[in-house]
Amino acid sequence: WLEKNGNNRHAVGSRGHFRSVGGRGRPRAALISLVRNSELEGIVQSMRQLEYHWNHKYNYPWIFFNDEPFSDEFKQATQNLTSARCYYEVVPKEHWSMPSWIDEGRFMNSLEYLGAIGVGKGWMISYRHMCRWNSGFFYKHPRLLELDFYWRVEPDVHFYCDIDYDVFRFMSDNKMKYGFNMNILDDARSFPSLWSRTRAFINKYPELLHPESDLDWLLDAQNSGDYNNCQFFSNFEIGDLRFFRGEQNEKYFDWLDKSGGFYYERFGDAPIHTLAVAMFVPKREIWFFRDIGYQHDINRCDPTSIDENFYRLVPFESPQKKPADTCIRQFLGGDWLNKRPGWSQSSE
Ligand code: GDP
Ligand code: MN
Repeated sequence: WLEKNGNNRHAVGSRGHFRSVGGRGRPRAALISLVRNSELEGIVQSMRQLEYHWNHKYNYPWIFFNDEPFSDEFKQATQNLTSARCYYEVVPKEHWSMPSWIDEGRFMNSLEYLGAIGVGKGWMISYRHMCRWNSGFFYKHPRLLELDFYWRVEPDVHFYCDIDYDVFRFMSDNKMKYGFNMNILDDARSFPSLWSRTRAFINKYPELLHPESDLDWLLDAQNSGDYNNCQFFSNFEIGDLRFFRGEQNEKYFDWLDKSGGFYYERFGDAPIHTLAVAMFVPKREIWFFRDIGYQHDINRCDPTSIDENFYRLVPFESPQKKPADTCIRQFLGGDWLNKRPGWSQSSE
């Protein structure tokens, strides 16, 4: 099976295939979180669990970002939860405002329209800035310029399993560019022109694509060959900042930004990161962190279930809401949900 599906080898499972070389310099990495003062309770929740299950052993610094200054209460409460160093950064205004080429009227229409048809947070101006910042600006913040890896953490998420290895060293030793934990189909009405704009980019700059890039799992083969909207659920991501700062990704971000799609539509950082990673990174440098128990809202990746539910997003108890549809199969390959002889959950 491994031979046949060599492309997915890395995702099948065991970190044992990969190098874990001790003794080299510590990865230059941090936990990063964009968060509001009003979300203190939520970030305390996320931090407490990630510290307990992982970071107390490694003490990677925390870097908090906000579009306004953090309150003393926020700083004190968060610093109290870790013995690692905490940094509190304000996002520069020019990274969090509408660019000059945006037509205000068109933008207002989009707020109204996406709000009216019920696209999640479609009516919020701040949400547009946030998506744009996460797509093209977070890695340009001066505090991150001296770092190579980040792990994105949101308020009110859950980490509920011990993680017994240095995740950043794993990324670094194995030259991973991007790590994810859930793969979902999100509301495509928030980015109607993203795919045509992306296709135009590919036609214009074919040389920017990595020679081993694989977009097949993102394309709807049955129908038009269009984007199937499958995306890494980017509230969890562990990535290589050098990749994001690279020429390919920067050109792609600018291309999308100039189209106005962050404001005329509601381009999200999740599909954008997904498409960027798929275009510019060979699949073997993308890692599925299936061993990290994680929950965002009602979507969960559950490594403690040892049957095929493992690969699903397990809905948290919530009678009214339905979890997002997973599309992990697309990434991992068609028959991945079939049990294979000899398969075990063990990560070594
Ligand atoms: P969702 O997961 O797509 O529903 O989006 P969230 O509301 O969780 O926002 C994503 C992340 O951006 C979270 O970490 C939020 O705390 C953060 N965020 C969103 N909007 C703002 C904002 O206006 N200011 C700040 N400081 N953080 C924000
Ligand atoms: Mn969220």
